[in-house]
Amino acid sequence: MRLKAIEAIVVNGRSYRWMSDPVVVVCVDGCEYDYLERAAAAGCTPYLARLLREGTAFKGDCVVPSFTNPNNLSIVTGVPPAVHGICGNYFYDREADAEVMMNDPRYLRAGTVLAAFADAGARVAVVTAKDKLRALLGHELKGICFSAEKAAGATVAENGIGDVLALVGMPLPSVYSAALSEFVFAAGVKLMETQRPDLMYLSTTDYIQHKFAPGSDGANAFYAMMDGYLARLDAEGAVLALTADHGMNAKTRADGSPNVIYLQDLLDEWLGAGRARVILPITDPYVVHHGALGSFATIYLDAAEREAIRARLAQMDGIDLVLLNAEACARFELPPDRMGDLVVVSGRHVVLGTSVARHDLSGLDAPLRSHGGVSEQTVPLLFNRRSAGIAGRARLRNFDVLDVALNHLEPAKIHRSAARTAQR
Ligand SMILES: [Zn+2]
Repeated sequence: MRLKAIEAIVVNGRSYRWMSDPVVVVCVDGCEYDYLERAAAAGCTPYLARLLREGTAFKGDCVVPSFTNPNNLSIVTGVPPAVHGICGNYFYDREADAEVMMNDPRYLRAGTVLAAFADAGARVAVVTAKDKLRALLGHELKGICFSAEKAAGATVAENGIGDVLALVGMPLPSVYSAALSEFVFAAGVKLMETQRPDLMYLSTTDYIQHKFAPGSDGANAFYAMMDGYLARLDAEGAVLALTADHGMNAKTRADGSPNVIYLQDLLDEWLGAGRARVILPITDPYVVHHGALGSFATIYLDAAEREAIRARLAQMDGIDLVLLNAEACARFELPPDRMGDLVVVSGRHVVLGTSVARHDLSGLDAPLRSHGGVSEQTVPLLFNRRSAGIAGRARLRNFDVLDVALNHLEPAKIHRSAARTAQR
């Protein structure tokens, strides 16, 4: 419990006012803005439609590479990867000369706003879909933190809560399912009803967004499910702040096949086998729905070859950007020591691979949709309160979501206007 009234806390150089109502931040994985508008227009999401109409709805920019972990960590720290250090799922550790996963908290270089509020006495809860994010989001957090994926094994000692399946009242979902995200929302509602955390962070999985385009039946059903849970959190009096880690685009040719540029194969052909190393930061243990294909890659190669390779790649159809390490890290606010010598970003409908032989696409049961590039950078920032105005902000980022939720919203709930109520 808090010993004295704290008005604000400062984390990573940003100030956050203490909440008067519970604040729930939802990161909807892969939520291209279109998903919200199309589901609302189809009448599937009455609550979200109301937020789009009467709440505060912005378009903002996520972090590039537009991948899950760099963005989730930016959202909970309030700063870009240059500060917090997490710039992918996977990277080449130059010091260790090894390709490693980046989901261990020892790679995190900044504390989270969640942990800081908990340290100051707030009750904080975090629920993620996949377990890969749990350790990073829950780093040094005194509170509740568990994943839907490993909900059955949650314990008070490890996760701040046990018997999660009984609390939520849902069977343990498959890691590749819409139910994994539904479990996150259901858990969030139960936690709000039973424990009323001051600050809660819910992070879903983009299984549906990888398969279904905005406005499709599969997508609308997912948003309809989400809509019901969000309305219940609102009814509990929570301030709701919804954003996304990245957007999502079709990455296919006209015939529906994946539109891939295999960079390692090209470089082996141009320079000789093994002279350059291509790293795809999207690489993680859960590759079924995207085959480890995204629109961002980084290349390690000799200094003497960089300019020539850069020029050659930049000429290719489907390549948007080829930048040197320093240029890329300045432009996208990335940690230079965890990026290669070149950074390659592909176009809206193109993904980057290593070698044909290294990508198992047999699990792709729908035309490829993926992310990672600048073309997936636009994301929603949606709130169930009116904004009190955000001065001097030329470009809103998804990692401003806590700042807006805590510092820039009017305290009163939005109401249906008399005219609108009369129309119903
Ligand atoms: Zn994601």
